[in-house]
Amino acid sequence: MTYSRTMTRSKPQRSCSVCRVKSDKSDLIRVVRSPEGRAVVDIMKKLPGRGAYICPDSECIMNARKSGKLAHALGAVIDDDFWRQLEEAAGNSGTNAGLKVRSVLGLSRKSGLLIIGSDNIERERRKMLVLMACDCSEAVREFARKHECMLLDMNTAQLSEVIGTRGGVQIVGLPLNSGFAKKLISLKNERGIAI
Ligand SMILES: [Zn+2]
Repeated sequence: MTYSRTMTRSKPQRSCSVCRVKSDKSDLIRVVRSPEGRAVVDIMKKLPGRGAYICPDSECIMNARKSGKLAHALGAVIDDDFWRQLEEAAGNSGTNAGLKVRSVLGLSRKSGLLIIGSDNIERERRKMLVLMACDCSEAVREFARKHECMLLDMNTAQLSEVIGTRGGVQIVGLPLNSGFAKKLISLKNERGIAI
């Protein structure tokens, strides 16, 4: 009897406030409404107050922003700082390759290693890992195929935002032997598809 009870005991589950999918509580990000009525990411999942859960998923975070569902669930004011915290928490959760890719791209841009645009990539003498936005042109795809390349799970607008430039960036490159490139390749292998 004891044995079967152990077998059927399940981890506590919660629903994501945005997509409504149930997951183990430990896999979700908890957010709470602070006493001042602001939304706060509850990293340790211990803060008191009205709380809600969200998947550590870029799509759910994007939908939460667009739909206002999280603000509604919390009855709280949500500022840009909160969204940054949330994306960071999601990036660190270890469950979402897409957010990690964003963070690697952002960091590589800050480090100055990221090369933007096919003309600049072409000028590089080193072997490059080339990353394409999912809505890039056929000409860009053709160009990318000449290199070690990956199709990103983000469009030109998203890619531009991630690397902090204005305008439609369709393609970026990183030296193939850089840590950033290696990290991206391992993320791609982890997920097994375009990232
Ligand atoms: Zn969700």
